[in-house]
Amino acid sequence: MSQRGRGRGRGGGRQGTGGPKECVCPKCGIRIPHVRGVPCLNTDCPKCGSKMMPSN
Ligand SMILES: [Zn+2]
Repeated sequence: MSQRGRGRGRGGGRQGTGGPKECVCPKCGIRIPHVRGVPCLNTDCPKCGSKMMPSN
């Protein structure tokens, strides 16, 4: 949906390369900011406790 430019978006991206910006819970749909160094799949949903999925 976003046309924010894939690839080298270095002009103010604080994320660095690769990795989602958010993790989303496939169960309840909540989104949380992705913590760098911690894969979404290793993150538990704060709401329902399911494993989070990366959301790009
Ligand atoms: Zn959840």
